[in-house]
Amino acid sequence: MKRRDFFRNGSVLAALSSIGCSPKSLLIDADNKLKTAKNIIFLVSDGMSQGTFNIAQTYLNRKEGINTHWVNLYIERKVSRGLMDMASASSIVTDSAAASSSWGGGVRVRNGSLNMGPKDEVYTPILQKMKAAGKAVGCVTTVPITHATPAGFCVNSKSRNAQPEIAEQYLKLKFDIMMGGGEEFFSAETREDKKDLFTDYKNAGFQVCRNKADMKSVKSGSPVLGVFHKNGLPYTIDRINNQELTNKIPTLAEMTETAINHMKSNPKGFMLQVEAGKVDWAAHGNDIAGILHDQLDFDKAVKVAMDFAEMNKETLVVITTDHGNANPGIAYVTSANTKFDSLTKYTCSNEFILNSFNANTTDKELITTIQEKQGYILTTAEAKYLLLNYKGIAQEGIYNPAQLPFRPLAEMQLNHNAVGWMSGEHTGDFVELAMYGPGSESMPGFMKNTDMHTFLLNAADVPNK
Ligand SMILES: [Zn+2]
Repeated sequence: MKRRDFFRNGSVLAALSSIGCSPKSLLIDADNKLKTAKNIIFLVSDGMSQGTFNIAQTYLNRKEGINTHWVNLYIERKVSRGLMDMASASSIVTDSAAASSSWGGGVRVRNGSLNMGPKDEVYTPILQKMKAAGKAVGCVTTVPITHATPAGFCVNSKSRNAQPEIAEQYLKLKFDIMMGGGEEFFSAETREDKKDLFTDYKNAGFQVCRNKADMKSVKSGSPVLGVFHKNGLPYTIDRINNQELTNKIPTLAEMTETAINHMKSNPKGFMLQVEAGKVDWAAHGNDIAGILHDQLDFDKAVKVAMDFAEMNKETLVVITTDHGNANPGIAYVTSANTKFDSLTKYTCSNEFILNSFNANTTDKELITTIQEKQGYILTTAEAKYLLLNYKGIAQEGIYNPAQLPFRPLAEMQLNHNAVGWMSGEHTGDFVELAMYGPGSESMPGFMKNTDMHTFLLNAADVPNK
């Protein structure tokens, strides 16, 4: 008999005393049985290395004297904490499609595929199972809503790159709320087949939101599609320093709150996935202001989820990441403290600043712009080296369509901000895992990614079919 069933069937208090367990740590209902999770909120900071978690905490603690909400959950011992092995079928280093599929479909698939095996085996995604059990379901993200992490909870696809097709699959699934970026996969202007999915969604009864004001006025009763930007949403640091973007683009915390409010009245509960997808993109680009502020924005979504769960008492909250990426870390350099604290002067991401240069930028202009926007002074030799990139010697890398010199800039920044990076790629590190609420008491201290699938179904008492 599984431990959970053992508790469910027998007297919990008798069982507790026999194993010397504190009753305080368990959530027990009036019939003396373990509570099931009516709702599940699954939060993923995509590509969050342990160093990213540390940098966010150290920054906030030194700047404001407070902790991240996630760290506070550990300090206050509110959550079960463990590690998870995220390997995929094809590699000890997963991509986001295989990672999300491991949780979403319960099977390790090859990197790049979504809940499908090499012989086209199909593994039903968890949100379809939850929906079939009567729950409201949805996803919110800071990257295209058709991107790998939300898609791994929703659909089957041979390739994560089939985003235009995934946008059509979502229409058929008619989930309760799906919000993020990715206009290009819905708009007739940018889709190769010229289909106008926004109109198709409206005709199918969806409330279609294109900005924050639309999102704030959604009504209950009909499903919501929110698509707020061409591709991924802008980095938090770039959004907060641009009034137009601030007005238009909701934060991850705002999307999370909207999604919870939209689904919380469903009599059979809900399951929501929340993804800070651009933490991963910033890691690929070794983009310190990008990653730091998106991780802190994710932390605000953690608070929204926890505030709801602590009040609601029937909600399981899972907080994790799908893999490490680039393993940033605070490195010892001379005056490391002062240099790290200089991150408070950064007013834009490296992506933003590197996009502002071109083949005609002079080294003096580059040095002045970086000093103004990020507060440190590059040498003329460094400036000249970066500018070579705009004159034909381009860099490559994932999420780098303009082939910008992300890695060289990050290497130059090390001596100014004390943050070093291992690479621009995913890592095979075991990932941080925290849980709160009904079911969390059964969380193993070390977990295989695919076990999460059945764990969540068991916690919610939803059949695995
Ligand atoms: Zn990635």
